[in-house]
Amino acid sequence: MPRYQPADSLASPRFSGVRTFARLPNVQTTVDVDVAVIGLPFDTGATFKVGARFGPEAIRSASVLLRPYNPELDVQVFNTLSCIDYGDVSVVPGFIQESHAAITATLQPLAAAGIITLGLGGDHSVALPELRALAAAHGPLALVQFDSHGDLWDSYYGGQRYTHGTPFRRAVEEGLIIPERSVQLGMRGPLYGSGDLQLARDMGFTMLTTTELLRRTPQEIGDLVRATVGDHLAFLSFDVDFFDPAFAPGTGTPEVGGPTSFQGLAYLRACTGIRWAGGDVVEVLPALDHGQITAHLAAQAGYEFLSLSALARRGS
Ligand code: MN
Ligand code: MN
Repeated sequence: MPRYQPADSLASPRFSGVRTFARLPNVQTTVDVDVAVIGLPFDTGATFKVGARFGPEAIRSASVLLRPYNPELDVQVFNTLSCIDYGDVSVVPGFIQESHAAITATLQPLAAAGIITLGLGGDHSVALPELRALAAAHGPLALVQFDSHGDLWDSYYGGQRYTHGTPFRRAVEEGLIIPERSVQLGMRGPLYGSGDLQLARDMGFTMLTTTELLRRTPQEIGDLVRATVGDHLAFLSFDVDFFDPAFAPGTGTPEVGGPTSFQGLAYLRACTGIRWAGGDVVEVLPALDHGQITAHLAAQAGYEFLSLSALARRGS
């Protein structure tokens, strides 16, 4: 059996104890670990509503309801993978470069040990330092991004190149991701010009808008993602604003007219057969959440990533 597993909620009530993701042990080690969940409580990269620094705490609090068996994917997640909650990165609020350096430095030994990282955000700028750590260990990665925004802008506010709207532009420039092996799913909402959507395709990404996505079945999307990623190691970046704000109100840059939680999770679960180096669930802003709607959904998305990773491990 894996060394690190969640507390058994049939033995101790799930509302008891200190909150960690899925009630996993809070330890900082690289020994006997397959997946490390790590909080990235940073929101200085946000360009609209702020407060995602409290996202990791909210996701962890909701995640204690998760159970070890995923019936949709038929996998016993925690019998397959040894998982820990590594705690939070000590970021520097207000200072984006310093915080990004701290995130990369914290993830680097995990990535070097071959551990799959699951980051809990935090605004989407955290994906860049995550990718820096993972690419340093594994080489350039394929990106599978669920998001209502492409996050490929060049800069904001007169040359600010590091925000939650720019991480994947920087990741391409730095050679951390391979656009031709990468998929962006769910783009929608008003833009600055007619060429904005074309940008992703011009850079080499496979990109489907929400309208294009919802015309296809989860099986078709799974086939598309597998065909694009191939056998490259991949990073899943899941921005909760991918979902309609009715299903994820607690986020800083909502876009109406999106997928339901049922639809979005089905598309995510369809991404089997991929070798994951890491992933994240980002842009959870608890102050705008109600009844933990967004936090529960974000916890579930993280759990689906663990499930996909467990399936990949079982198949290898
Ligand atoms: Mn995003
Ligand atoms: Mn977004």
